[in-house]
Amino acid sequence: MKDLSFLNKPVPVPGKPARSGSEASVFKPLVAVIVLGVLVALVPFFFQLSPYVLNIFMQAVTYSIAVLGMTVVLGYTGQINLAQATFFGLGAYAVGLGTVVLGLNFWITLLLGIGVATVAGFVLGLTTLRLGGHYLAMITISFQQIFDLVLLNWASVTGGPDGISGIERPSLFGYVLSDDRAYLLLCTVVLYLAIYFVWWLPQTRTGRAMRAVRENELAAEVTGVNTLRVKVIAFTLSATLAGIGGAFFAAGFAYISPDNFNFARSIEFLTMVLLGGAQSPFGGALGTSLLILLPEWLRFLKEVYLAVYGLAVILIMVFLPTGIWGLISSRMLKYRKPVPIDVTDIPALDLEIPIADPSPILKLENVQKYFGGVKAVNGITLEVARGTVHALIGPNGSGKTTTLNVLNGIYKSTAGKIVFDGVDITEKSPHERAGLGIGRTFQNIRLFPAMSVVENVMVGAQRENNPIEAGRAALRERALSALKFVGMADKAEVIVKNLPYGHQRLVEIARALAGHPKFLLLDEPAAGLNQTEKKELGDLLKRLRGHGLTVFLIEHDIGLIEQISDTITVLNFGKKIAEGDPSYVLRHPDVIAAYLGDTSHAAA
Ligand code: ADP
Ligand code: MG
Repeated sequence: MKDLSFLNKPVPVPGKPARSGSEASVFKPLVAVIVLGVLVALVPFFFQLSPYVLNIFMQAVTYSIAVLGMTVVLGYTGQINLAQATFFGLGAYAVGLGTVVLGLNFWITLLLGIGVATVAGFVLGLTTLRLGGHYLAMITISFQQIFDLVLLNWASVTGGPDGISGIERPSLFGYVLSDDRAYLLLCTVVLYLAIYFVWWLPQTRTGRAMRAVRENELAAEVTGVNTLRVKVIAFTLSATLAGIGGAFFAAGFAYISPDNFNFARSIEFLTMVLLGGAQSPFGGALGTSLLILLPEWLRFLKEVYLAVYGLAVILIMVFLPTGIWGLISSRMLKYRKPVPIDVTDIPALDLEIPIADPSPILKLENVQKYFGGVKAVNGITLEVARGTVHALIGPNGSGKTTTLNVLNGIYKSTAGKIVFDGVDITEKSPHERAGLGIGRTFQNIRLFPAMSVVENVMVGAQRENNPIEAGRAALRERALSALKFVGMADKAEVIVKNLPYGHQRLVEIARALAGHPKFLLLDEPAAGLNQTEKKELGDLLKRLRGHGLTVFLIEHDIGLIEQISDTITVLNFGKKIAEGDPSYVLRHPDVIAAYLGDTSHAAA
């Protein structure tokens, strides 16, 4: 008999996405999920369910759609939203008022509701997401409170505390969905579509950028992600999903009133997503169903019900920080074999940068950065020649990191001008500078810890203006090439936080290289590396220069500096004290004095 075992072996293709292990192992869970989904959707048709139970299902399904919005904004993007019930309410009131008061068709009011919720989410997001953190939490709470007051007090329009009743079921293909089971099936189909969308989202450019923002917003911005835009998109999507859920909720229950859409409901949505697991749409749906069913199951407890309910929720959240789905998926991950990556198939990294232009790639003119009274950078003027390795050295606290931060826009300079490749970038944001070809690594490594190595690097590859194809396969190939260049391609599928320190440094460099930079900023790349790793790093930097890339680096290891740099600039107290080639600079008396802390010598 012929050996057919090769049929079961996954063929390693470098450009191929590896969402979750080999193709074969993805297929079966997918089929299982679809079958389960269809069975669940058809339950009401096979079992005689009371209207009461159908109502609970209806609530679970419509709430879940809103909770999926929380998955996007909180789970994927790491932004808090305590006004989800407002967007849910906007969808519901659009349907309620639209059908009952204005006599419009449900489907039109559904679109209206989605539109109003989306616009509200966009405006709120755009005006507040610059703030982030606690401010964002506070402002969303205020927004929620205002919505609550409007619903209650603008009675002539909203019906006040009495709400709106008599909302009718929509018709579909000429059939009025007055049968609870038929309407529930429609809502379930909408929920499934929403789950599919939220499940698909993280693998897209925007979804990857969202996760990068969650993992390390500063690094995402510096890598080229327009973080504000990504956060606004997430917030808006979240509001859209809530609007859809609210619209179907209103027609499902025929009656809506303000207490369905108050702050307590927003907290409930938050609890649902955290309990189920914010990283996956399945978690959101699971958490919602549980929190709706739990009170029903606990009803027999009568007086102590609320206490037990609260305790159960707290316990689950404390002991399962990634939610119930987080626990399930981490168990499943253990049984998943990663796709073997054939490193030889990965194309070599194209880093070529033509350096015909004799002008300097970077010019700093009297750049200053003050922190209150601290003059961290105090009037630096310097030029960096194309295709060179230019080192910035100086004692601790002399302003080196601050110079780098001013260079790539993390800090706005207090005064002075920065010209990069002929463009005045003094006022540009970090992601715009990344888009012009400035790459960067950090003194304290800033990766996206919970993402895989290759995904980290793909975020670098997807920077604006990167001269590669935009598709996922091209991004992945570019990322693998960059990883191969630094010798990390075989670790592509490892979650970054599980890598040793030296490897993380290399991944950070690969992330910058994937963006095809013209100019690479490295802040103490050799810090924490052993002698072998330092030697490898030196070789890597020389290889980079060989491709025409300009490297501007801060480094403490004088041996390494001497070996690789063409030019050295020395800072002390935020000022340039010497500049030139290594043999000149490292013997300069002011430099020696600065390093030995002998200021009298420097003054003399
Ligand atoms: P280096 O990288 O050369 O060791 P830094 O650029 O980190 O030095 O710091 C230069 C000076 O600026 C130090 O005195 C430091 O305390 C101060 N500094 C740096 N960042 C900030 C900040 N965000 N706020 C206030 N002071 C700062
Ligand atoms: Mg520093």
